[in-house]
Amino acid sequence: MILPEDQYVGCLLGLALGDALGAPYEGGIIERLVWRFIGKTDDGSLRWTDDTQMSLDLAESLLTKGALYQDELARRFAESYSWKRGYGPGAARILKLVKRGYSWRDAVHSVYREGSFGNGAAMRAPVLALFFPDSIEKLIVNTRAASEVTHSHPVGIDGAILIAVATSQLLAQSNSNKVLEVVSANCQTAEIRAPLQVAVSWLQQKSLPTVSEVVTRLGNGITAHKSCVTALYIALRFIDNSFADMLNFVVACGGDVDTIGAMAGALWGSYNGHDGLPDIKIESRLLIENTSRRIYAAVALK
Ligand SMILES: [Mg+2]
Repeated sequence: MILPEDQYVGCLLGLALGDALGAPYEGGIIERLVWRFIGKTDDGSLRWTDDTQMSLDLAESLLTKGALYQDELARRFAESYSWKRGYGPGAARILKLVKRGYSWRDAVHSVYREGSFGNGAAMRAPVLALFFPDSIEKLIVNTRAASEVTHSHPVGIDGAILIAVATSQLLAQSNSNKVLEVVSANCQTAEIRAPLQVAVSWLQQKSLPTVSEVVTRLGNGITAHKSCVTALYIALRFIDNSFADMLNFVVACGGDVDTIGAMAGALWGSYNGHDGLPDIKIESRLLIENTSRRIYAAVALK
């Protein structure tokens, strides 16, 4: 039997491993070359990117404040910002503005008038499922608030809700059909619903589309509607397989590999716990494990 605390560690460590193992394959030739030089720490551990950094920031903000405070969260994101972590171009501009003293409310709309619909809010959304395991309403309200700080477009928020709700279902050991049912019931936008319906039919019919069919129908990009369902689909298809099998499929899909890997890794780890995760050297592994256990302790005390 998997203990809930091990699932908490599986979630956050799965996220970081998917991120760190996916990062060398992300982007074009230049990004990959740069990552060859900065992708490892001095002791040879794999570095993770903005996905894990923002997840740790969100976790620390919730642990410190005991609730979600958008101003504090934005300040924390901005303080942690470093170009070396490979932040998306929009998030980078927003966080630099916040660092210079702008309100995040102004910054998010000065960079994208309608708000960003990148997958940056979704990649950190598994953390919210760890904090709000008992109420889907609370989970959605808090996911929306945590997203707005950087990704305020309805599609960016909807992608985050999809990943948060799926994570909470997998923490509760729901089977694939139940995960898809609850996720579909809480999907708000046509942009996310379209690929979700494709994934549902593939998973229910147990068909095994090729990598290129998955990329064509679900996407592999940096926008929420071209990556969140992709991550959910891959996590559920490989939920009873090894983490390595799952991640190989993510890498084969290409595109925004670190973020799709982070989201799929968090989903897979939430269900399977940390025991099935690869035992490789990853930056700040202990910090990630301790943060997960601190969240579990905080939630268990409530
Ligand atoms: Mg990244």
